[in-house]
Amino acid sequence: MNPASELREITSQLKRLIVSNMEMGIDFPSLLSSAGKDPGEKLSHETSLEGLKAIIGDCRRCKLWRGRTNLVFGEGSPKARLVFVGEGPGHEEDMEGRPFVGEAGKMLTRIIEKAMGIKREEVYICNVVKCRPPNNRDPERDEIDTCIPFLKEQIRVIRPEVICTLGRIAASELLERDFKITRERGKWHSYMDIPVMPTYHPAYILRNPSRERQLKGQVWEDIQEIMARLGLEVKKDG
Ligand code: URA
Repeated sequence: MNPASELREITSQLKRLIVSNMEMGIDFPSLLSSAGKDPGEKLSHETSLEGLKAIIGDCRRCKLWRGRTNLVFGEGSPKARLVFVGEGPGHEEDMEGRPFVGEAGKMLTRIIEKAMGIKREEVYICNVVKCRPPNNRDPERDEIDTCIPFLKEQIRVIRPEVICTLGRIAASELLERDFKITRERGKWHSYMDIPVMPTYHPAYILRNPSRERQLKGQVWEDIQEIMARLGLEVKKDG
């Protein structure tokens, strides 16, 4: 057999294998890539968020898939200058398949639109884990390790000018160290040479109504730092 015919034969055998696997219910993406199956495993570099979303597919790489209604990949502009990173979807996010749409999400949307004066669609919003942890518990080590390659690829593909992490978990995981949010928020850090501004998670403000004024004031300080870095004009005071 000449090399061209051999290649045609291999291709058609491969096609038959893929079709028969799909008929047996084996996920197409899992045939193409085993990325993210084992904690710490490297993902092949994707060039688009859509490509990455196809690879994450109907993810069953960690135990969180069992309790989810929808996987929450993330949303916003692929050309965002600013990426917000939260911890993981809550109930509303799980129901809608979109990040930050519950009470904490409404506060984040107000920060983006009212305080920063930009549209929510202009930024990109995503989480450390893409599926809701049961009863809103913190994501566990194995869940984070399995899912975080996808967050890192999202950031690599978008390559924003600034990342804003919301809460301790997003900061700890991206900066890969134990992070003390009360002491270390409001200061610039760096991930892949991208400036990172850690601030409080909006849910933390909602859980501490007696400190609402103080916490919101601190978040506003952090947001102003981000705005200055992005060259956005501060129009109002908080
Ligand atoms: N909290 C998060 O960390 N992420 C969401 O998407 C919603 C609430």
